[in-house]
Amino acid sequence: MPKTPLIEYASLAELYDAYCELFVAKSPIVSACGCQIHCREHHFVHVVKLFGEGRRPLHFPDEKAKIVAQTEGFGDYIHEARRAQRLLRFEKALREPDAVVRPAHLKTADRAWMRHVDCSQYPFMAALAQKEQGVLTLCSLQPLRARNMSKWMDGPILYPVVEDETAEATKAHQPPEGG
Ligand SMILES: [Zn+2]
Repeated sequence: MPKTPLIEYASLAELYDAYCELFVAKSPIVSACGCQIHCREHHFVHVVKLFGEGRRPLHFPDEKAKIVAQTEGFGDYIHEARRAQRLLRFEKALREPDAVVRPAHLKTADRAWMRHVDCSQYPFMAALAQKEQGVLTLCSLQPLRARNMSKWMDGPILYPVVEDETAEATKAHQPPEGG
């Protein structure tokens, strides 16, 4: 499995740029499952778990100018690096998921695009979207440890769609040509 690199960034502005380039500029992202996932500027706050000083919750429109101006370091902002570094892996999970699931524990999110990656710490990526006014919008990106996978796969599998099992079984049991 080719390893998708972690992204590198030295400031909040740089991280925001990377997010916009990978997600917002390509929105809606068309997934192999057939879904279109809309990614907006303000989703940045959720996907990297951005907070102000003292974990102050942020309202993106009030912060955008400050985020863009934060070209050196991160100022008073706090974010979750383990999510941010994996933006490229999450984008890949949305586009080419191994599975799309509706885990029982999801509350706001509608479904999760899951993808296995070559990483000993967080070998599974989960990208989540919710339904807003009839469209799927990005709501969270979560790197998962292997031990959490049973919980995440506990629910209807929306993709890949399993073909008619009888037809598959018949095909598999067909005698070899000329036999
Ligand atoms: Zn889909």
